[in-house]
Amino acid sequence: MSQLKCLICGMKIHPNTYDLNNYSFEEKNEKGKIINCPFCGVGKIYLDDEKGIYHVAHDTLDEESLKVLDHAMKLEVFNGEFYKEASYLAKDGEVRKLFKDLSNIEFMHARVHKRIGGFKELPKLHKPDYESRLNTDKLLLEEACKREEHAIAFYKKNSVRVCSDLVKEIFKALSDVEKQHENIADKYI
Ligand SMILES: [Zn+2]
Repeated sequence: MSQLKCLICGMKIHPNTYDLNNYSFEEKNEKGKIINCPFCGVGKIYLDDEKGIYHVAHDTLDEESLKVLDHAMKLEVFNGEFYKEASYLAKDGEVRKLFKDLSNIEFMHARVHKRIGGFKELPKLHKPDYESRLNTDKLLLEEACKREEHAIAFYKKNSVRVCSDLVKEIFKALSDVEKQHENIADKYI
C-alpha cells in the first residue's frame, strides 16, 4: 500500500507518528483514524496516499504574492517562537504540552510558506520579553487567542492579494487550523 501523506506540508504519516501534536487538535487522531495532519494540522481532505503534494512554482508568483508569503512565514515563526517560550513559562503541565504542540505546528506552517515562496531559510526574529508581561497561564492563553485571531485575519485579508488559487487554498487550510488553535486555547482559559 502506498504511504499516506499531507498535500499541504508534504510530510508522510506513519502509523507510529499519527498522534504527534495531538494536544493541538479538537478532535484527536487515533490509531487507524487519522483526521488531521500531525505535522501542520490540516484536515483529512488534504491527506492522500496517491495525489502529489500541492506544488506552486514560485517563479510564477508575482512580487505582491511573494511579499505576502514572506510576511506569512515571519508571522508563523513569530508565533512558533512565542509558543515555544510559552511552553517553558506555563505552570500547568497540560498547558505546557499544548503550547509545545502549537509551536511545532506553527513552525511547520512557516516551512510551508518557505517552500512555496522559494525562500532560502526561516527568518531569525528578535525575541520579545514575554516573561515579565505574561506571568500567568491565563495571560499566556489569552495572548495565544489574540495571536490566532490575528493570524486568521491575516490569511483572510491577504488571500485576495495572492495571484495563485493554490496559495489561496493553502491559506484557507492553514487558517482553519488556526481557528482550531483559538478554540482550544479559549477552552483552557
Ligand atoms: Zn501537513
